[in-house]
Amino acid sequence: MLKVAKTYKTNLAAICLTPQLNAQLPAWYHIATVHRLMQEATIKCLIKKHKAITVADFLKISNGIRNAPIENHRPTPYCCCRDCNTDRLLNCLNPHDCATEATIRLQQINSKWNPLTNLPASDNLLLMLSRKARNKQAKKNNKHITFGPSITSKTDLTECFRIFIDP
Ligand SMILES: [Zn+2]
Ligand SMILES: [Zn+2]
Repeated sequence: MLKVAKTYKTNLAAICLTPQLNAQLPAWYHIATVHRLMQEATIKCLIKKHKAITVADFLKISNGIRNAPIENHRPTPYCCCRDCNTDRLLNCLNPHDCATEATIRLQQINSKWNPLTNLPASDNLLLMLSRKARNKQAKKNNKHITFGPSITSKTDLTECFRIFIDP
C-alpha cells in the first residue's frame, strides 16, 4: 500500500495515527526508522519462521523482553518463558536474539509512528466546530471543504492517504 501511495504521489497524511494503526505499518522499512544493518541469521529467522512483517508482529515477538519481569523472560537462548517457548514451536533457535532484534527495531521507530509511545494528550489543531458544520454543508452541496490538518485516524490506514491538488 505504501509503495502504491508513493507511485501516485499521495502522502501518508494523518498527523497522528492511533497505536492500533501504527501497528499496521510495515516494520522492516518503516518510514521513520533509521535503517539498521541486518543481523543475517536473526533477520532470516524473523522473516521465515516468525513471519514478521508489521509493527504488530514485532510487538508480539518482543513481548517477552519488553515485559520481562511479568513474563519471567531470561536473556539467554535457553529461556523457557511462555513467549520463548511459543517461538520455539516455530523452530526458532534463539528466541531471545529474535526478541532483542524486534525490540531494537521498535525502539528505533520515530515517536510519531511508534505504538510504544502514548498518544498526545491534546490536539490543538482541530477544526473549529463551526467550520466543521460548514464543511458538512459544503460536502452535501459538492463545494470546497476546508482541510482539517490534525485528524487522528481511527479506523483504517487506507483513510490516511490524501492527494492534494491545485484547485
Ligand atoms: Zn523468554
Ligand atoms: Zn527466531
